[in-house]
Amino acid sequence: MNLQLLLVEDNPGDVRLFEECLREEYAGVTVHAVPDSIQALHYLERRGLYHNACRPDLIVLDLNLPCHGSLHLITTVKAHPHWAAIPLVVLTTSSAAHEVRAAYQAHANAFMVKPSSLTDFTTSVRSFARFWLMTATLPSEISP
Ligand SMILES: [Mg+2]
Repeated sequence: MNLQLLLVEDNPGDVRLFEECLREEYAGVTVHAVPDSIQALHYLERRGLYHNACRPDLIVLDLNLPCHGSLHLITTVKAHPHWAAIPLVVLTTSSAAHEVRAAYQAHANAFMVKPSSLTDFTTSVRSFARFWLMTATLPSEISP
């Protein structure tokens, strides 16, 4: 099954690394990267550049984005009738208790701390792929 993943991440190096590690574990995933939460909303709404965008099966979000709209993005996705069921996973360098709590209060489905070492980052992304892409049943995989 080909899965579409929307990655909201401002650092192109992190995008590349995430995509490489993910695809090594599960080749049937397409990563659509956007650099901030405003672009993420445009993507979901298929506005402008994103008029041909695929609906994501999963959203992965960095919390520390330039426009500080990450929590707002979680709240917006989770309050939207067509997007609320899309699993949304936070992947960020912060492990501050208030950020973890705020993300879950906004109904994020998981919070992962992005390790600073390359090896640990790779391991984390692979675990993510094994669970979210290969173990969990996603709402998009269920026929209506
Ligand atoms: Mg970032």
